Amino acid sequence: MLDYHLHLWPHGQRDTAPTLEQVAAYCDGARAAGISEVALTEHLFRFRQADRLLGGFWDDEPDAALRASMQNYWGDHARADLDAYVECVLAAKEAGLPVVLGLEVDYYRGRMSDVVELLAGYPFDVLLGSVHWIGAWRFDDVDDPLSMAQWSTRDVDEAWSDYVGAIEELAATSACDVLAHPDLVKAAGHHPLAPEECWDRLVEAAVGSGMAAELSSAGWRKPVNEAYPAPGLLERFVARGVPLTTASDAHRLSDVAHRTADLARMLDALQVRSLRAFRARSGSDVALAATVPGS
Ligand SMILES: [Zn+2]
Ligand SMILES: [Zn+2]
Repeated sequence: MLDYHLHLWPHGQRDTAPTLEQVAAYCDGARAAGISEVALTEHLFRFRQADRLLGGFWDDEPDAALRASMQNYWGDHARADLDAYVECVLAAKEAGLPVVLGLEVDYYRGRMSDVVELLAGYPFDVLLGSVHWIGAWRFDDVDDPLSMAQWSTRDVDEAWSDYVGAIEELAATSACDVLAHPDLVKAAGHHPLAPEECWDRLVEAAVGSGMAAELSSAGWRKPVNEAYPAPGLLERFVARGVPLTTASDAHRLSDVAHRTADLARMLDALQVRSLRAFRARSGSDVALAATVPGS
């Protein structure tokens, strides 16, 4: 198994400089759970370089409260130095730790060519593509009352469709390699009347772009209490031959490799025999049998 989605800092905690010891501890935790390789994938928006490029992306949001909230959230997060992060992960690779250099990249409508240009200056192995926001609405921020109150004033089907539309646009940019937590919009526990239509669009976005899709245990730590993607969506990804990664989306050491065995069981039930690993943005299949815990 892989853990191809890891963060160094919890949301709400101001960043501290990343250290080799921290990365080594993540690798040790992962290895103990039967993980053969991890990807460090900090959010792009935790770095000052993103602030310079993308700060104010929320200005188009018509809702003043959401606009102000995103401005605060962004200000709390965009503080670390991307160069120091990259250097730390490269040093871990040099030291022989089973880690690759990644980043979790949000979709910024109309700004993705700037993002691509910034990221091209770094030797990333893998880029996760994510949608966490519709306009300036943080629909998955389950600890934020303002964000969660939106779910009672908005149409759930429309929210899902907006989310899927953003994923389609992100996939079409070819900026990223892996569709992270593909049905994240369900995080707070709201489901559309006909999820299959959204699932089919998500699968087409992956197929059309050549992106892999991530199977993540993080949904089990959210109100929805279900892996991303839902079993029906995972089945569709597999049926269409979309390559998969596995991930915990940990923001702290104790969540590294969370419920890896449960993810392995989901894959086994669908006879998935390989996962997609990445080097220098190029994917290759690794046999799953060799990475299953206990084998
Ligand atoms: Zn995410
Ligand atoms: Zn993440």
